[in-house]
Amino acid sequence: MTSTPSTASIVRDRIYINGAWVASHGRETIAVSDSNTGKVMGTVPRGTAADVDAAVTAAAAAFDAWAATPIAERAAWLRKIGDGLQRRSTELVELIAREVGMPVGLGARVQVAMPLAQWTHVAELGSDFRFEEQVGNSLIVREPVGVVAAITPWNFPLNQISLKVAPALLAGCTVVLKPSEVAPFNAFVLAEVIAEVGLPAGVFNLVCGDGVEVGEPLVAHDGVDCISFTGSTRAGKWISEVAARGVKRVRLELGGKSPSVLLASANFATAVAASTGSCYMNSGQTCVAQTRLLVPRAQLPEAIAIAKQTAEAYTVGSAFAEGVRLGPLISQAQLDRVRDFIRRGIESGAELITGGADAPAGLEGGYFVKPTVFVVNDASSVLAQEEIFGPVLSIIPYDDEADAIRIANDTPYGLGGAVWAGTDEEASRVARRIRTGQVHINGGPYNPAAPFGGFKQSGYGREGGRFGLDEFLEYKALHLRAAA
Ligand code: NAD
Repeated sequence: MTSTPSTASIVRDRIYINGAWVASHGRETIAVSDSNTGKVMGTVPRGTAADVDAAVTAAAAAFDAWAATPIAERAAWLRKIGDGLQRRSTELVELIAREVGMPVGLGARVQVAMPLAQWTHVAELGSDFRFEEQVGNSLIVREPVGVVAAITPWNFPLNQISLKVAPALLAGCTVVLKPSEVAPFNAFVLAEVIAEVGLPAGVFNLVCGDGVEVGEPLVAHDGVDCISFTGSTRAGKWISEVAARGVKRVRLELGGKSPSVLLASANFATAVAASTGSCYMNSGQTCVAQTRLLVPRAQLPEAIAIAKQTAEAYTVGSAFAEGVRLGPLISQAQLDRVRDFIRRGIESGAELITGGADAPAGLEGGYFVKPTVFVVNDASSVLAQEEIFGPVLSIIPYDDEADAIRIANDTPYGLGGAVWAGTDEEASRVARRIRTGQVHINGGPYNPAAPFGGFKQSGYGREGGRFGLDEFLEYKALHLRAAA
């Protein structure tokens, strides 16, 4: 599908606090670039700690009444918000394709339909979730954790926002959202929808700015009870340190370096192509991207041939151009970072199979990089260890099953992964030994009702379905007198 996106500049000069669009205390703005053209697509306020204070104060004031609102009513608000977003879905597809650069056909499903479905799924949880249970003489009740600070990244911006804000609201929490300053406009659409449906003032608040000027004061604010953060492991470590001073609840969804393990019995044509696809999804800017392809040494030539052919079939270009499967990276900073990793990979002695650090031919303006495949013999090297966040696949040979499991677990991360084998039983047996929060078995699809999150430095806490709701609830025991 070729379509022509709007070129009009988007100016957002208000933030949403206590049910009203108000001026930021900051006088500066942040320019947001269109990843397809490299040109400025609009501006948002560069917020300050004073904005954070106003937003947290509003969220704290709204908490008691919202927590006391019956669950069925809170679920009904979620449905209204989901419907409101649905009415603006065409606009959201274009907006996020400009901000992030995922090709519009895929982006419509992954960047828009998937997060919109969250609002209905979470609303439905309200009817069967066990908010109370009897244990001996105690009634165990679940209560909202309080004011939630939701801090989100740019790669799947509306999805990461929806995975936090919808369950937090259903749980009875009030929310201050700080979206990524790199892809913030979709969050303003959400705030407009929330204003339009008339959610009570203070229940949802939107601040805007960067990690230092707005994120840090939000994490440190005394009025915040829970921080739900998705982003880099670097920022997650800092957040958990600061939050510990106030004994705040922290949920961290961080980076990954996920393995796809091909056992000798796997169907290589299917498995290598699917793993390469996982690595290149969203131009490699996916936390669960399967960036390490582990293959038996004897089958390395076969894997290389299929990965090369798959990678070279990807057309690189604008998210809006026909036939494009690999859009741009999000920013100049990300482009510089990914190219640097490719150069360092070559210097480390890895064998470049296809792609490389040079700009793809014939593309101007946007942040484009070639689909790249390496063979990496040293599993401790930069390409095998670091989250690159670009379309760079590292094929790593292994000697036997024990070696494959050792290499799969040999990074600081533990987010996702895949195992491919002749049978699901064989793949599952190996998957149980991989230290990550989720593993796809022979191409089993993502399940939004399943828990999503990490082991090790990929974070703690889970999002998705009832597991995500759980994160915003405390347990309370009411010890009742024993029956006479
Ligand atoms: P980032 O850490 O730079 O920023 C994420 C958010 O945190 C942004 O809103 C940013 O402004 C804010 N922030 C940055 N430093 C902060 C600080 N010191 N205090 C408070 N807030 C701060 O990450 P990013 O570049 O936007 O996103 C990419 C990263 O997110 C990757 O590492 C990716 O793997 C990870 N991610 C993880 C998941 C998951 O579910 N595990 C999902 C998506 C992305």
